[in-house]
Amino acid sequence: MAKQGRAKHAKRPLLATKPADPLPPLSGDFYRIVDLLDERGRATIARLRQFLESEVEPIIEDYWARDQFPFELVPKLATLGVGGVGYDGYGCVGGDMLLNGFICMEMARIDCSIATFYGVHTGLSAGSIYLCGSEEQKQRWLPPMMRFEKIGSFGLTEPLVGSATSGGMMTTCRRDGDEWILNGEKKWIGNATFADVNVIWARDEASNAVKGFVVTKDNPGLSVAKIHTKMALRVVQNGLITLKNCRVLEADRLQDANTFKDTARVLRMTRAGVAWFAVGCQMGAYEHALRYAKTRIQFGKPIAGFQLVQDLLVRMLGNVTACQSMMLRLAQLQVQGQMFDEHASLAKAYTTVKCRETVGYARELLGGNGILLENHVGRFVADAEAIYSYEGTREMNTLIVGKAITGLSAFA
Ligand SMILES: Cc1cc2nc3c(=O)[nH]c(=O)nc-3n(C[C@H](O)[C@H](O)[C@H](O)COP(=O)(O)OP(=O)(O)OC[C@H]3O[C@@H](n4cnc5c(N)ncnc54)[C@H](O)[C@@H]3O)c2cc1C
Repeated sequence: MAKQGRAKHAKRPLLATKPADPLPPLSGDFYRIVDLLDERGRATIARLRQFLESEVEPIIEDYWARDQFPFELVPKLATLGVGGVGYDGYGCVGGDMLLNGFICMEMARIDCSIATFYGVHTGLSAGSIYLCGSEEQKQRWLPPMMRFEKIGSFGLTEPLVGSATSGGMMTTCRRDGDEWILNGEKKWIGNATFADVNVIWARDEASNAVKGFVVTKDNPGLSVAKIHTKMALRVVQNGLITLKNCRVLEADRLQDANTFKDTARVLRMTRAGVAWFAVGCQMGAYEHALRYAKTRIQFGKPIAGFQLVQDLLVRMLGNVTACQSMMLRLAQLQVQGQMFDEHASLAKAYTTVKCRETVGYARELLGGNGILLENHVGRFVADAEAIYSYEGTREMNTLIVGKAITGLSAFA
């Protein structure tokens, strides 16, 4: 037995030999994290990457510049097996949250707006129904949402209340027989200009508790005005939703959303997804910068051959790889049911800070060309700003982690 054990140990390679199938030289996956997925997961990512590179990347700058959404891509997304990754039943494709994270990262690597569309639809909106809906509500809404036939939005933020929605929400709901009457406004709501299903959070006038509702786009009490002039995530169609005596059936109130703690359950899950976006955004910027560095000639040679340019590239790759490693462990905690709010918050705060730094290095590397949309990096720089602030600002996520590690709440 002992002899066998020694033989086994002796075979373990201490030093690597170059793999027969090296990653493409421009890859932002330096530590080959994709190898951690199972065969099905790798196939999903390969299929998604093929779609993103061939159908999204060539058109996205034009849509970004025009502040428009490429609706023609939605039916194609439905064929890729990415509807409801990590959820069970109800037409969801299943799998685990590690694969969901890879999908978020892969989308953001090509375009953060498409990733955001996906995150709002499958995460915030369908996720609210999945986590807080009754059996009947899940059966009714999730299958068409997972087929991308019905698109969802998530209305939490308000014009006057952003970070403080947990205690200060101004949108109200009032019970009236079998119905509820909603009044208020919701700002920044992604997909809202065309969403079929709007998950709306409102404070109960009677109990002060926050409740969730599914409000369909044909409800006469709901109107949406598109938010123009954004300098980030311009492909995402953000709306200002107005609810004026908006009547919603009790049957359309999310039956397991009874306090803001239930809203927070959804945010915990989606915050992890946003942290993966921040990793993908860095990968995209890094890969564009590396490609540019190899082709841009100054002083008679590619700028990639200059020490200071290599320094920028290696700083970027270090950030990407550190964030990927953090997210892999977070996903493990998630899969094991061990991810708490503070875990997701630390990842969201840290990866988005690093994202801003990485996209800044990429822009610096491109010199003046870095601010031209046609060179791609500028879009990542702009989009990183929105990712930095949405789904909880750095300050809010810091306060969540700070409370967890000190036992003292520093919330105002
Ligand atoms: C592109 C985009 C898409 C979005 N999509 C959606 C969506 O689909 N659905 C949705 O509901 N919302 C959405 N949001 C809203 C987003 O979640 C909010 O912008 C975010 O939560 C911050 O709120 P705020 O912008 O009102 O900032 P504020 O809350 O006004 O904060 C302003 C500043 O003050 C700081 N601050 C506030 N309170 C404190 C404190 N106690 N201590 C220290 N600092 C503090 C903040 O960190 C921030 O730096 C989106 C936002 C953007 C930009």
